[in-house]
Amino acid sequence: MLTNKEDINPERIKTVPVVLPGLNNRNIRIDMLRTDLIHPVVSGNKWFKLQYYLTAAREQGIRHLVTFGGAWSNHIHASAAAAALYDFSITGIIRGEQAPLLSPTLQDALSMGMELRFISRTAYRNKELPAELNNRNFLLIPEGGYGTAGARGAALLTDYCTAHAYTHICCAVGTGTMMAGLMNQSGPMQQVIGISSQKNNLNLEKAVTALLKNPQQQPLLLHDYHFGGYASHTPELIRFMNLFYEQTGIPTDIVYTGKLCFAVTALLEKNYFPPGSNILLIHSGGLQGNRSLQKGTLIF
Ligand SMILES: *Cc1c(COP(=O)(O)O)cnc(C)c1O
Repeated sequence: MLTNKEDINPERIKTVPVVLPGLNNRNIRIDMLRTDLIHPVVSGNKWFKLQYYLTAAREQGIRHLVTFGGAWSNHIHASAAAAALYDFSITGIIRGEQAPLLSPTLQDALSMGMELRFISRTAYRNKELPAELNNRNFLLIPEGGYGTAGARGAALLTDYCTAHAYTHICCAVGTGTMMAGLMNQSGPMQQVIGISSQKNNLNLEKAVTALLKNPQQQPLLLHDYHFGGYASHTPELIRFMNLFYEQTGIPTDIVYTGKLCFAVTALLEKNYFPPGSNILLIHSGGLQGNRSLQKGTLIF
């Protein structure tokens, strides 16, 4: 599915105004950084988070990568794409039994040359590596690209917009790596707001803080917009995503950016943002995961 390097093109990233009927009053401006535009299905956020891991591998002369993820993982998908484009071989260690039919995510990964190894959920939780890797030289990329290298990579997103011009930067949060990268780039008068996709993951504050250049900074994480949890969504979220698309022409994903846009809309309705706010939403990609929905669920 990915045939040449031109398929992934960060030059396509742009900032677009988001106009929501009735919500841009009170002199509030909303823009969205469309990192989803780098590729139709490779997640922008994951692509940037991978960059310094790839640099490290190259510097150490390592040609093989190993990483972890689930059957619908944006990280597995983007890692396979990055490995293919930069001539690394890669093993994806996948959570759980192999299903009779591979998910489109794993089919893509396979067709981009990733070796897939399925391990039990228990082995996955313990991040056990298959024995066949014992005598191979490889770079291990943490699940979701979490780590300081990932945060540095995510910070590159701000090169594609005038990030300093915003009073608030809102992003979706999984591991917290992107949020940490954005906080590391933010100025003292800016507020980075993270919308967690997970239910009650109260370790997130610590996970974000561990990646901050200035550990005195307090992450502002909102935990009320998970729609049942990381892998969950509700008819209300689907309705919202379709409405948001009708109003803005912007497609969102069910795991991260749909929840982010729902949260920001809810906050606007509650007058959370003071008049004069200039808000940047990060569209981090993830659209490939929508393929887990029944056809016709989304109008885009
Ligand atoms: C992984 C992902 C996130 C979350 O990023 P973290 O750095 O793990 O917090 C947000 N949006 C999309 C589309 C993602 O794929």
